[in-house]
Amino acid sequence: MVVNTKLHAHETRENRLGSITGYSGTLKDLHHKACCGTLQDKERCFSQASTCNAACAFSILSFIVDAAMIQHSPSGCAVTAMQVSNSKDQLAAKIGLNHSKSCYVCTDMDETDTIYGATENLKEVILETYRRYRPNAIFVGASCVSGVIGEDLESVRSEVSGIIPIPVALVYCEGFKTKIWASGFDAAFHAILTSIVKPPEKKSNIINIINFYGSARKEITEIFHEFGYEPLFLISNTTIEQLSRISESAATISTCGTLGSYLGNGLSDLYGVPYVVSLQPHGIEGFDCWLSELGKVLGKEEEIKTYLAREKEKYLPKIEEVKRKLKGLKAVVGMGPGFNFNTSRALQELGIEIVYSAAWHFDRQYDDGKIPSAFDHLAHNSPNDFPLNVCDLQNHEMIHILKSAKPDIFFSRHTGSTVWAMKLGIPALCLYDEYDIFGYKGLLNFAYSILDKVTNRSFTENLSRRVKLPYNDWWFSQNNNHFLKSGEDNGS
Ligand code: SF4
Repeated sequence: MVVNTKLHAHETRENRLGSITGYSGTLKDLHHKACCGTLQDKERCFSQASTCNAACAFSILSFIVDAAMIQHSPSGCAVTAMQVSNSKDQLAAKIGLNHSKSCYVCTDMDETDTIYGATENLKEVILETYRRYRPNAIFVGASCVSGVIGEDLESVRSEVSGIIPIPVALVYCEGFKTKIWASGFDAAFHAILTSIVKPPEKKSNIINIINFYGSARKEITEIFHEFGYEPLFLISNTTIEQLSRISESAATISTCGTLGSYLGNGLSDLYGVPYVVSLQPHGIEGFDCWLSELGKVLGKEEEIKTYLAREKEKYLPKIEEVKRKLKGLKAVVGMGPGFNFNTSRALQELGIEIVYSAAWHFDRQYDDGKIPSAFDHLAHNSPNDFPLNVCDLQNHEMIHILKSAKPDIFFSRHTGSTVWAMKLGIPALCLYDEYDIFGYKGLLNFAYSILDKVTNRSFTENLSRRVKLPYNDWWFSQNNNHFLKSGEDNGS
């Protein structure tokens, strides 16, 4: 058990899971080193800007319908507010929810605060936020500045807890603590586990689904109803009341191993809610495994087998048809590790060859102490041992990889990296929606999208003709491995 809710803050992924951001080698070499315990992180001699874990923490917390976010930081750290405010309102409106009790504010720390401290101001902001919005919980986030000057957030919480009748949860997401932005998910879930979730009073027929935005809400609800269960999509568009009772659920399952590990294993350790360990539901094998493992936990194996057979009959012949048109395509995948290894498997199911893969970090294990299933499965089943690089969205490395691997198509999950491939004239598909390859139907739609991309190339080609890249030929003639510090090895 590595989820420790007795600590005031979560431990970072580097310390807890042995996660790394610097590696260059191959799929099977990485697997070997991760399994035999010799994997070492590699430092970069040059690094472009990356993302802060506070953005991850607050981008998921701020989708809670009736909670207020307060970032105790300079205003620049709260840039996430801009990114989430529109989408969360749109998402909530789509399913008829009212966000009026939620807000995202910042204490706007300045130079004076860094000398004298700003806990009095924080206290006032918490009380004023409660007065104006009447949220059902307040999440207070730390930042580099509040962390460096040692702001005593616990004392502020104790003081305000005697004044306002709602939980105040502390989110320790100081940017300097970790190079892995996914640690921010753990910071958010640690706050939920320690300040919001209550011990169970009874058992329910709810399945917790840890995901981002729940776009397949309708489809999954229909599937789960067939087996007598109700999905609860965590944590976007949930209420504090719903979150306080997730300890009563029948099981927890996730659409992303990176995202789900802390909360899923934490609920299992603390309250005995089984966390389903499986491949994620991308493509044929992922969907089979995801539902079958859930079926084992619920005692519904036979019903799920029948459901899967029925769906396969509907979609597999159509997938086979389009697969023939994708034969021979070569792809590069650049995503966070959770989605990367599941997407790669789905691409191989379509007969597409992975010629290079880049993961934004790599978790040697999840919080159950086991190697991530999707990575393990890929290492054992991939038809080729493709080159693999771990880089925290270093676009200068991605450009180099794309230029040398010359794929027919690039798959990403971040628009910022997608556009670089297109500037090189390589068609790119951004899988922004986590349910883009969900199950058999998702795989079929995904196959059609790939076909569209590789056959309608004019936009990409026009763009690449008109763009001047900031990289010269010397840059592209370098060995990509040399971007990591020379003389260091990733282990043996
Ligand atoms: S917490 Fe630190 S790393 Fe994160 S946005 Fe603020 S200053 Fe930047």
